[in-house]
Amino acid sequence: MKRILLVNPWIEDVSAYDYWLKPLGLLYISSALKHLVIEPVVIDCLDRYDLELVSFGARRGDRHFGTGKFLEEEIAKPRSIASIPRKFKRFGFPEEVLRRKLRGSGSVDGVFVTSMMTYWHYGVSDTIRVIREEKPGIPILLGGVYATLLPDHARQYSGADFVCPGTGMKPLEKALAHLGIDSTLQFDWFEDLDPDYSIYESPRYAVVITSLGCPFRCTYCASSFLWDGFLSRDSFRTTEYIKFLIETKHLSDVVFFDDAILVGNGFKELMREIENRRIRTRFHLPNGVHARFLDMETAGLMFENNFKTIKIGLETSDPALQNTTGGKVSSRDFYQAIQNLFEAGFTSREVSAYIMVNLPGQSEKDILNSLEVCEELGVNPSINEFTPIPGTAQWKDLVDGGMFNEEIDPLLLNNSILPHWWEGGFSFKTIQRLKEAAWSLRRKLSGE
Ligand code: SF4
Repeated sequence: MKRILLVNPWIEDVSAYDYWLKPLGLLYISSALKHLVIEPVVIDCLDRYDLELVSFGARRGDRHFGTGKFLEEEIAKPRSIASIPRKFKRFGFPEEVLRRKLRGSGSVDGVFVTSMMTYWHYGVSDTIRVIREEKPGIPILLGGVYATLLPDHARQYSGADFVCPGTGMKPLEKALAHLGIDSTLQFDWFEDLDPDYSIYESPRYAVVITSLGCPFRCTYCASSFLWDGFLSRDSFRTTEYIKFLIETKHLSDVVFFDDAILVGNGFKELMREIENRRIRTRFHLPNGVHARFLDMETAGLMFENNFKTIKIGLETSDPALQNTTGGKVSSRDFYQAIQNLFEAGFTSREVSAYIMVNLPGQSEKDILNSLEVCEELGVNPSINEFTPIPGTAQWKDLVDGGMFNEEIDPLLLNNSILPHWWEGGFSFKTIQRLKEAAWSLRRKLSGE
């Protein structure tokens, strides 16, 4: 039987936190390989619950609901940020653990590495360097979000032998064809497969999705670049899988990471299934749900099903900016959604609102207004610093406006490193002040 090694690489950045990060695409690829009678072997460098990490003190980083701090190690800074006074770190497995796991993975026909944020590309190339040293002569193929948004950059810098951009199963077909393995996938992967959590001995939480893509086209978001249109999965299958995970993996938390979970009727159907079958766990929606679809029935179903984290995408309270960035929310939608949630029984402990900071064209006053709206409604603000994502309309505008060129090291677009490099962008001090205002409101709302 053919064997493929699947690797979720390190993160290398100035900061990182396990806010329910799971390599969902890789877990689907693992399931697809099993379907094709190919044996997957998975190494997730970001698995904080890996049993080998206990001796490194990994559990000391645990926080709420399965989130927590990664193990970290300071490493040499890339040249592009040499003059910036921040420590650069590698997050995830210590190198010796990765090397040991690679040696223990046995003989494989190829290695598929996934990728997430474009500005984490140093973690990708560093992981590939180690794989190359431990598995000389084995083809290394790269897919994932970074490979899709910046394929030429990935070809030039990742060290992979072959880059497979794209979403869904297309990259897998390309990768298997590259290895000379029959790659005809005769199944509907999103309906027929579940992400393969069997690879984790003790996952503690699981991330699942019930839909793909989003019908909106916000100027700062890559969803429409990654997925064509919007597709919802049969809710019965998702319920079955959540039940299976809770029973077999003893999960305490299930996290939905859809881009647009409230679009259509799928979410309500799912919630009714979960309620009827008395599936009890803690659920979370950290990805900024659409206020306009959060009606009273939805709020009630969420309350009955024990949701502990509900993030609503407000982003901006400026009606003009709401419209020019994609029209996904209006202040009226937001007020109504919050009212529905509070009437259903939620409090500011569970509900918070994403507020974008440093969007090109945004004023400081807009953010202060959004904070006032949050205070008025009793909703915790969650500051979300704008990062230009390659391929989005906002990215193109900044490139066309000469703010940076397409060859820029993506690391420099990370808002933790350089927040204010475009004309009119906020200074580091302004961003700090706004973050402190948000923190002070959070403290006030929690009664501290
Ligand atoms: S609504 Fe959300 S997921 Fe959809 S395009 Fe806008 S930001 Fe992206």
